[in-house]
Amino acid sequence: MGRPFRRKTVKIVIATHNPGKLREIREILAGQEILSAEEAGFFDDVEETGKTFLENARLKAQAAMKATGLPALADDSGLCVEALGGAPGVYSARYSGGGAAENRKKLLKSLNGVENRRAYFACAVCLAFPDGSELTAEGKTCGQILTGERGTGGFGYDSLFLSDDLGVAFAEAGEGEKNAVSHRGRALRALAEKL
Ligand code: IMP
Repeated sequence: MGRPFRRKTVKIVIATHNPGKLREIREILAGQEILSAEEAGFFDDVEETGKTFLENARLKAQAAMKATGLPALADDSGLCVEALGGAPGVYSARYSGGGAAENRKKLLKSLNGVENRRAYFACAVCLAFPDGSELTAEGKTCGQILTGERGTGGFGYDSLFLSDDLGVAFAEAGEGEKNAVSHRGRALRALAEKL
C-alpha cells in the first residue's frame, strides 16, 4: 500500500548566483532537497530580456532546468515607483547603468520635490519542471521612498524603502523581519503552498 498523505520531497535547483537569495529560499522551502546552481553545475548568467518579472523568472528557471535536467526555481524582482509610472521596474538592477549606490542616487534625483513617494517591491517566482509544466507565484510589499538613506543592512534600494508593514526602512530591519513581509518571502511562501 502506498502512503497517499506523505508529502513527496522534490529535488530543486535554485537558479541564482546570489547567496542571500539562496539562503532565504532554503529557509522557506525547508523539506525540499535544494541544490545551488553551482552544485547542479549551472554557471550561466541568463539575460533578462522579459518585459515582466514573471517572464524573466521563467527565462532563468527554464535555462537552469534545461541545463541540469532537474526542476529549477528562479525569481525576478524590482522596485516600482508610482510617480515614475512603475519605473525602474524590471530595469531596477540596471536603472542608472552603474551599481546599487548609483541606482539609489538616480532614484532620489528623479523624485526630487515629488510629493507622491508611494512604491512597492514586486517579485515573481517560477519553478520549471522537466516535463514542461511549471508553478508560478508573485509577491508584493508596499511602502514609501524616503528623501535620504536610512540604515545599513540589506542591499539594492533597501535604505530608501520605508516599509508600510515594518514602519522602518528595509535597511534598518533584521533579515528575518524583512523576509516575513518582503515581496520575495511572500512569493516564495505562496509557491511553497502550491508544491
Ligand atoms: P533581481 O531579482 O536579482 O534581478 O533584482 C533586481 C533588482 O531589484 C536588484 O538589483 C535590486 O536593485 C532591486 N531589488 C529587488 N529586491 C530588492 C530588495 O529586497 N531590496 C532592495 N532592492 C531590491
